[in-house]
Parts: sequence; structure tokens; C-alpha cells
Amino acid sequence: MADTKTDIIIVDDDEISGRLLKDLLRQAGYGTYRLRRPLDLLLAVRRRKPRLVIMDIVLRGVDGFKLLKTLRDNRETAKTRVIVISEKSFDFEKQQAFKYGAEAFISKPFNVETLAGQITHILDGNKFNLAALGGGMEEEEMSETECEPSDLKDNQVRTRVWGCRGLADSLANSESAWGRQTSCVSVETKDRLIILDGGTGIVPLGRKIAERGGPKDIWVFLTHFHIDHIMGLPNFPCLESSAFTLRIAGAGETEKRFKDAVRDIFYASPYWHNRHPRAKLLMYEIAEDSYDLAPDFRLSAMHANHPSPTLCYRLEIAGKKIVYAPDSGLVGDPYSMQAYDEKLGAFSRNADLLIHDSCFTDEEWRQRPGEGHSSPSTAMEFAALQAEAKNLLLFHHDGAYSDETINQMKTKAEELAKENRWSTICHAAKEGFSLTLD
Ligand SMILES: [Zn+2]
Repeated sequence: MADTKTDIIIVDDDEISGRLLKDLLRQAGYGTYRLRRPLDLLLAVRRRKPRLVIMDIVLRGVDGFKLLKTLRDNRETAKTRVIVISEKSFDFEKQQAFKYGAEAFISKPFNVETLAGQITHILDGNKFNLAALGGGMEEEEMSETECEPSDLKDNQVRTRVWGCRGLADSLANSESAWGRQTSCVSVETKDRLIILDGGTGIVPLGRKIAERGGPKDIWVFLTHFHIDHIMGLPNFPCLESSAFTLRIAGAGETEKRFKDAVRDIFYASPYWHNRHPRAKLLMYEIAEDSYDLAPDFRLSAMHANHPSPTLCYRLEIAGKKIVYAPDSGLVGDPYSMQAYDEKLGAFSRNADLLIHDSCFTDEEWRQRPGEGHSSPSTAMEFAALQAEAKNLLLFHHDGAYSDETINQMKTKAEELAKENRWSTICHAAKEGFSLTLD
């Protein structure tokens, strides 16, 4: 039995790296126990109840993944936190590791200087608890180019619209005050940048980021794979520079993993024929759940009422709550089963900013109920009564609508709010629109 508390069990039958791991973690103050016989893992976890298991998957006489699965299949040990550390670090091994609930994959040889820090980061809860498909926790490559400092204060969050249109039947080339680019929104804090959807608006956004020289570590959350939400992604300027790390996250499709679906976007673009993006790309397949991505940044996802696997996102960041539901068909009828409206209402409750689908006019919305979109009046009523949001941003204007139609839609929603004395402030998305929450 252990005479001192075991924080970490190490399963690595390579003498050199096993011993090194143990020494490094001991020096960092952890009670460590190195398991001599990997097959005893289940027993050891039951007895010692460690905070973490660090394990290689290439072990003599036993498949590491089978061991990991044994932990998961046992009720008592199913929730054990595990980090896989291995020399065998092909995408396949990483996928398997995350499939069996590993929180991170560290490639060997590991960095002796930073390893203990990485482990502490994960143990303290700042973990990437996503089912990551591509990434590990390797040190990130950073360029010499400094990022220009942000003009935002610690508690400020700025949301900016780079594209807010759906796709027209034929590409409209007339000028529009609302803009013609498709869905893309940035959410920015003093030191973080998050991109919502990769419609064509992501291209001008990427140019701005490149000009500013950062931020270099960027989350991109895709709601779904309808073309207007992804078509700009292959031309995102930051892909050209190895200084950038893009963490692309979204839902997988029924028969396609998220990673493969993103890869297909790149394959479908002539731009990447025979070339590979230079930026570091990390893919994260996410489900309807909440993920703590940093101490001040929590992401939650919920399935949207929209054809194909589609997510809505809630960002809780720097003390603000922003909900992004660009493709979301509200039921809107108080006499029908309103499970979706209620669920989304709870998900968006008290949002500082709710960005919601108002694709169709009220009249057209009634005629096209099966398309998973909403209208200005339904979105306004939902924002005020169900979500009780402070601000509503009407979003995803139909690609074929004239400026005049969109003006009327905005006016209609504003009047509805005024008549009912709702306190939710109504805005309509427009390229260049920005709102800074204090
Ligand atoms: Zn869609």
C-alpha cells in the first residue's frame, strides 16, 4: 500500500522516460507512483485513487488502449483522469486516446522544461476537456511578430459582425448597406479572439488579424456545415502563417467525424490543391455540453432546430454572456409543443447579447416552416420573454432580400418591443456592426 498520497500514477515501462517523468513530477511536488506491471493498473487506481494517470500506450505485452478501456468500463475507475504520453503519436493514436477519454496527448520526447507545468495546468482544471481529434499539448510555435496590444480593458468584450447574410439563389452583386458576406462574427477580449462561423466574412477578419499580428491562438467555432457558414474558411488569411494556431471546433456529422468534415472543406477548395496550411490546426469535436477552456472562458453548446447537425453556442467570457444561434428555427407558437423554445430560452437566459436567426420576414417564415429559420418578430419575442436578453442582434438575413426589406424587418421588431415595453434592445446585424459590453 502507498505510505504517501499518490497524486499521479505513471504507466511507462520505458526505463528512461518512466524515471524522468517520475523525477520531474516529484520535483513539482506531486506524490507519484510508477507502476511496474501495467496490467495492475485497474487494481492500483482502485487502491490509490490518484488524481491522474499518465500512461504510455505502447507497453510490453499489453495494448495501452485496452488498459484505458478497462478503466472506463469499470464503474469505480471510469472517471479517472488520464493523459496519454507516447512516442506513437499518429492522428489515429490521438483519436483513440481522446475516444477513450484522455484529456491530453503529449508526444514523446516530451519537453523536460514544460512538462510539469502542462500537467499542473490540466490538473488545476484549465484543461481542454474536449474530444480533441487533432491536437496535443505540445509547445506552440510562435513567431517573432508581436501582436499589437488591444484597446479593450480587462472586463470588456467586443462582438463584431464580419458577415451576416445567408446565401442567395444566385450570388447577388449589388451593393447592400447590410453587406453581402456570409456568417462570421468575432468576439474579442483584451487577450483573446474567438471566431464564430467561417462564412466569407472570415476573410476580411483574417486580413485584420494578420495586419495586427495576432492574437495568434484563435478558437473558431463552426455551428454546422451548410456552405454559407464554412465557405470562407479555406481562404482565411491566417492559414498562411506558421505563427498561428487555429483551434477549430464543432459537431461531427452522423457518418463523418468533425475532423474529416473540416478536411473536406479544404479539399473542396482549389486554393489548397497540392498545398497544406502553414498554421497549426487543431480540431475538436464537441457535443451538447459545457467546456471550460480557460479560467475566464466557458463554452457551452446546444443542438439547434435546423436541418443537419447544428449547434448554438454560449460564450461566458470575461464575465459576459453571449449566445450565437445564427440558424435556429423557433417554434414561436405558444399553443404548440415548445420544447425547443424553452430549452433555448434556458440556454440563453439573461444573455448580455443574443445573436439570433431572423432570416425570413414574418410572412415568409410562416410559409417556410421546415427550413429551420426564424423571423424578426419571433426572434424579438423570444429574446424578450424567453431569453430575457439585454441585447438582441437580428442575424442571418436572407441572401436575396433587398435593403428595404431588411430595414422593414428591423423596424417591425423594434416596434414590437416598443409596443410591449420590452427592455431588450434590438439591433440588426450589418457588416462592421460592433457592440462592446462593459
Ligand atoms: Zn444552415
